[in-house]
Amino acid sequence: MHELSIATSLVETAVRSAEKAGACSVTRLHLRLGALAGVEPESLEFCFPVVAKGTICEGAELRLEIVPASGCCARCGGRSEVRDLLAPCPACGGWPLSVEGGREMELDSLEVT
Ligand SMILES: [Zn+2]
Repeated sequence: MHELSIATSLVETAVRSAEKAGACSVTRLHLRLGALAGVEPESLEFCFPVVAKGTICEGAELRLEIVPASGCCARCGGRSEVRDLLAPCPACGGWPLSVEGGREMELDSLEVT
């Protein structure tokens, strides 16, 4: 499962930065996840506690912030939020849109004790 390896690297990153900061445990992680990153938020939330078990991230809360992509319509020039690459322009129905962003996945911040 794709999300399992993402959760694993997320935990590894969090453990590394928490240890560097001299923390004993991680209580909360904030992750920015692009709407088009190809990651299922529900699967990631499911995998995270499994992978975190036995690490200093065990019991930590995973907060996901879904970042929408921005699309620009070639037909009407309208900009819109894009959550699905197959979705047409909401203003005129034009497609495809030129899409920017929405593919990021970054650990925004950590709360540690
Ligand atoms: Zn349009």
